[in-house]
Amino acid sequence: QARRLEGVDKNIWVDLVGLAAQYKTVNLGQGFPDFPPPHFVREAFAKAITEEPHELNQYTRAFGHPKLVQNLAKLYGQLLVQDLDPFCNVLVSVGAYGALFCAFQAFVDEGDEVIIIEPFFDCYEPMTKMAGGKCVYIPLRPKPTDEGESMTSENWRLDTSELAAKITKQTKILVLNTPNNPLGKVFSREELEEIADICVKHNVICFSDEVYEWLVYDGNQHVRIASLPGMWERTITIGSAGKTFGATGWKVGWALGPDNLLQHLRTVHQNSIYHCATGAQEAVAQGFQVELERLGKADCYFVQLRGALQKKRDLLHRCLSEVGMKPVKPQGSYFMMADISDFKTEVPPPSDPSVSYDYHFVKWMMIHKQLSAIPISAFCSTEHKNLFQNFIRFCFVKEDSTLESAEKILKNWK
Ligand code: PMP
Ligand code: GLN
Repeated sequence: QARRLEGVDKNIWVDLVGLAAQYKTVNLGQGFPDFPPPHFVREAFAKAITEEPHELNQYTRAFGHPKLVQNLAKLYGQLLVQDLDPFCNVLVSVGAYGALFCAFQAFVDEGDEVIIIEPFFDCYEPMTKMAGGKCVYIPLRPKPTDEGESMTSENWRLDTSELAAKITKQTKILVLNTPNNPLGKVFSREELEEIADICVKHNVICFSDEVYEWLVYDGNQHVRIASLPGMWERTITIGSAGKTFGATGWKVGWALGPDNLLQHLRTVHQNSIYHCATGAQEAVAQGFQVELERLGKADCYFVQLRGALQKKRDLLHRCLSEVGMKPVKPQGSYFMMADISDFKTEVPPPSDPSVSYDYHFVKWMMIHKQLSAIPISAFCSTEHKNLFQNFIRFCFVKEDSTLESAEKILKNWK
């Protein structure tokens, strides 16, 4: 086994997806919709692989199917208020995972430090380690709430002086994820400006994972850090068609950035992945073509999905509150965290002190209640486990009937 694999052999998704199926649970664990992507993109995919002259079943351009990179450049050119060259500023890879992997491999050397804000999407840690880097963690911390006031993701704050104190000569990268998985926090413009100032001052590159960019609720605004002064030239922005069109199995993702940075992601990509399935890229390209025409209008898929998901979020929030799990209302994303610390009498902590309470609780809930969720300690470092191990994550990008089945389980809990 290569040294780079040390300590990265466990994977929460591989472990818990299997258990969720084994116990036939109502699955609010892994983040994927259980309803189909919009009809017109599915039809585009089907046509791409069935119609003459069949060239969409073959290789396409290594760094992204021309029609897709052109549409991505058009869309993000508008959103970032930046002229984007489809062939220099956009790289399409195998999902956001592929784009992230290329970014970590492209910039992280042995000994480089990567700042990761907790709780974080788990793959940033092994990707840093596999590149030889060192993770430096900084937790978001909840502001105390008044008695009876319910918690929202906005209450969780980054202490930017704590962040500034973590910067060393070895700091190379800061990983940002907004809207955040698993908390659902949408970083405000002010928060992002403070982070941007630190990146600019210390010459740090930002990997900005924005796969949930369209999923912001209650009128919150998604702000792209690459659009802030001094940031375009030091930011790799990551997106995903899986999240944008609710088609996680298609594995189409992208990285956007200045040519002098993206060039190094292309080097990794061309020598490892080469390219992502042509038919899926064609379908996503057609999807963006349609959405570009109706961006921000009521019939835009991104607007519709956001509206539907806000209702689902509110339904789940109500159910969790009723059963006494204290939910943290998310400003964005697919997910909601809930505080399970009041369940310790009913579900006593594990006898093995190396097992965190949230893992133990989730396994208990799968077996005894046929309901799955994801433990939040999978999204934080060992050093900060105690801050997060009383929380679990539920996914609400589900059919109403799935959420109603979960509601039934929660209502009959006692
Ligand atoms: N980043 C975040 C924050 C995610 O939640 C996920 C998983 N959905 C990914 C990246 C990976 O996305 P993809 O499925 O496009 O590889
Ligand atoms: N991103 C998804 C989630 O957070 C799942 C990722 C995976 O299954 N590997 O649920």
